[in-house]
Amino acid sequence: MVNLRNVFCVLLMMLASCSGTKYSAVPKIENGVSKTLAQYRKSVINNVQYNLQFDIPGDRRHSITATEVLSFDLIVNKEALQIDFREESRKIRAIKANGKSVPVIHDSEHLIIDPHYLGTGKNEISIDFEAGEGALNRNADYLYTLFVPDRARTVFPCFDQPDLKATYLLTLKVPVNWKAIANASLKDSVVKGDRKTYHYATSDTLSTYLFAFAAGKFDKAVWPVGKGEAEFLYRETDTAKIKHSVNEIFLQHTASLKFMEDWTQIPYPFQKFGFVAIPDFQFGGMEHPGNIQYKASALFLDAGATRDQLNARTNVIAHETAHMWFGDLVTMNWFNDVWMKEVFANFMADKSTENLTGKEVFDLKFLVDHFPAAYGIDRTQGSNPIRQDLDNLKDAGTMYGNIIYHKAPIMMQQLERLMGREKFQAGIREYLKKFAHKNASWPDLIAILSKHTSSDLQKWNKVWVNDTGRPVIDYVLEQSANKVSKFSMSQKPEYGAARVWPQLVEVKFYYPDRTKEFTVNFNRAEVDISEAIGAEMPLFVQFNSSGQGYGLWPADLKMLPELYIMNSPLNRSTAYVTLYENMLNGRYVKPGQLLTLFMDGLQKEKEELNVKLITGYLANIYWEFIAAKDRVALAPALEHALWNAMQHQVLPNNKKLLFKAYQDIFLSASAKEQLYKIWNDQQAPAGLKLTEDDYTALAFSLALREVKDTGLLSKQLSRITNTDRRIRFEFIMPAVSPKVTDRDAFFKSLALKSNRTKESNVGSALYYLHHPLRQASSIKYLPESLEMLSEIQTTGDIFFPQNWLQATFSYYQSAEAAKVIRDFLQRNPGYSPKLKAKILQAADHVFRAEQLLKN
Ligand SMILES: [Zn+2]
Repeated sequence: MVNLRNVFCVLLMMLASCSGTKYSAVPKIENGVSKTLAQYRKSVINNVQYNLQFDIPGDRRHSITATEVLSFDLIVNKEALQIDFREESRKIRAIKANGKSVPVIHDSEHLIIDPHYLGTGKNEISIDFEAGEGALNRNADYLYTLFVPDRARTVFPCFDQPDLKATYLLTLKVPVNWKAIANASLKDSVVKGDRKTYHYATSDTLSTYLFAFAAGKFDKAVWPVGKGEAEFLYRETDTAKIKHSVNEIFLQHTASLKFMEDWTQIPYPFQKFGFVAIPDFQFGGMEHPGNIQYKASALFLDAGATRDQLNARTNVIAHETAHMWFGDLVTMNWFNDVWMKEVFANFMADKSTENLTGKEVFDLKFLVDHFPAAYGIDRTQGSNPIRQDLDNLKDAGTMYGNIIYHKAPIMMQQLERLMGREKFQAGIREYLKKFAHKNASWPDLIAILSKHTSSDLQKWNKVWVNDTGRPVIDYVLEQSANKVSKFSMSQKPEYGAARVWPQLVEVKFYYPDRTKEFTVNFNRAEVDISEAIGAEMPLFVQFNSSGQGYGLWPADLKMLPELYIMNSPLNRSTAYVTLYENMLNGRYVKPGQLLTLFMDGLQKEKEELNVKLITGYLANIYWEFIAAKDRVALAPALEHALWNAMQHQVLPNNKKLLFKAYQDIFLSASAKEQLYKIWNDQQAPAGLKLTEDDYTALAFSLALREVKDTGLLSKQLSRITNTDRRIRFEFIMPAVSPKVTDRDAFFKSLALKSNRTKESNVGSALYYLHHPLRQASSIKYLPESLEMLSEIQTTGDIFFPQNWLQATFSYYQSAEAAKVIRDFLQRNPGYSPKLKAKILQAADHVFRAEQLLKN
């Protein structure tokens, strides 16, 4: 093995200076997959195929031997070829190019093949290697690949960029009692002794991040879909959950597929449909064609599931199914446009549920799902635009977050309103047809949409897509002789340079016996609502009554005592969001006042999505914006309000939400005793169904309060029979332990990457570790948690940095915690801007709490 870096640099420079060909700039050899490298390879390579074989032993301590034949056409053969492989060099055993042995040159995460081994036209590179395990997620008796955004290169040598789509011919050798699932249809399987070989057909053309398989001890269910059948692998053992879920899961996939085929007018575009439920999966789901992966707990629900859990399951299924068209069929050129596939997946998922629920429920769900989450980032100093730059795929993980998942659908809804539904749909259909099985960028889509509208989409695009932030809205309402004489609204940015967010928004006048709603085209910094002139003065005005407007909306304080004359759950929901956002900004209401208002609302609000919204807000205010010393005094009244509301609510789901909120906030001795009894006897309050997961959460809640029963956690562990759930529980246990030494040891153990592999469990454990009731002893972990962030980003999956930060910082409120963050940023002036932004996003509450508690 030799390192020829310097030789190659000289060679490359010479070639670059005298080439004069049409292909892109010659890339240097550097870590990751740079944009320059990707553009260069796209300009000289096509027709890529991977023929891959993995020999997977049952024992995860033994390595996986693999072979690969990578074939492709070269248009130009002048430069050294870089094949991505982010692993130790020793794992490459032999390379042949077009039948000839090639020395292994592994430099800066690339295998380098000298041009004299290659030619224009077809080339074939054979590699014997040991598979890297960075993205194989090996467990005791199963594994699954997860390659998004650039992790395929950690397992096998490849061109790991989304616009070099390829076909895959996959062979898997596994223990005889394992099942497997991949992108393509199964050709055949051969048993020999205690081993089994699965041969798959040639796959459809896919980007490397969509190539995937899973194998292990799974159960399997099948369901007829079109001419073939869909397969489903899972490890759930709870018969009630299986009975309750499997058919429902298939039915929902079938409904989502049909919706997408009708809406896009394109039949399901891949050879096979299937999915797999993974215990403690890192994400909610991942859209690999033929083997969508889901977090098992999101799919398997039992009779105790709340509407919210059922909605979340419908959503994730619709989201991943929509990706088959948006992302899988038409893929972004580069990961800076990853938001496009996410926005469409979310937007289409919403649309497919609109079909089932009707407009009013849809609007309410859209509001509750997207606006609070989008504001949660966009109100912070660390916000990012929907579309960002990306120089190297190794930083692609930082593109993800609530802006692309939640602000982008809001933007898309406004865009659809601006264009009109039919024109918008026609534009999207044209886009999908034009770029099917290929790649496209946001400018490609905007160019097509522009043909279908007279509005200036480029201008619109600039503020909504390429810029951050939201507007703060104010108003003037004047009267003369009880008639409106002037009514105008103005907007200015919350931060930064003057700009206007053009949007259509509703404003509603409330009278004792009627309402009147106006639609306002809010496309300038100040607009007059001339339609309202001469109208009788209302009791109060509600701004953004339909909930589709984006920004910090004003509140007419005359609304507060009249909140429950609003018949529409959507209007009330908008009011809750508006009041909460203003409270955070120190406008109109203080945290204590809003807490009282919501406590009162608990007794009156019947709509489940709203009960969820206000119980969530209540918990936030209580833990983040009420000082610890005041919390103890406040607890009995809040406990009483929640318990009382729970008993008076009729719907079981509302009861459950209120019980969960009670379990989240309780502090008094009597509440402790009551909940301990419920947990110990496993006897739920009347009208309530509690599942094993609920009792697990309750056990953790009680342990945080340090109840007398010191064997509580061990007792709960002994009640859990499913192996995967036991592993999760055992992992979290020390983070909840009453002993500080256990918690210290747990935090220390996270320094090792091998202790962080189950990221979803790490997130849960951190939440308990940093719970407000434990902060006095946990604040000391904060500096180290920040120091670890850049390593977390390099070694973890895409959502891990933000999950790490959120789970750590969500509930801190002290000036001391705020200082830790400020000190860290000051000490590291050259810190990665994208990670710094993530810190500022997660720390927003801490800084606001510091301000709000000062006043
Ligand atoms: Zn997605």
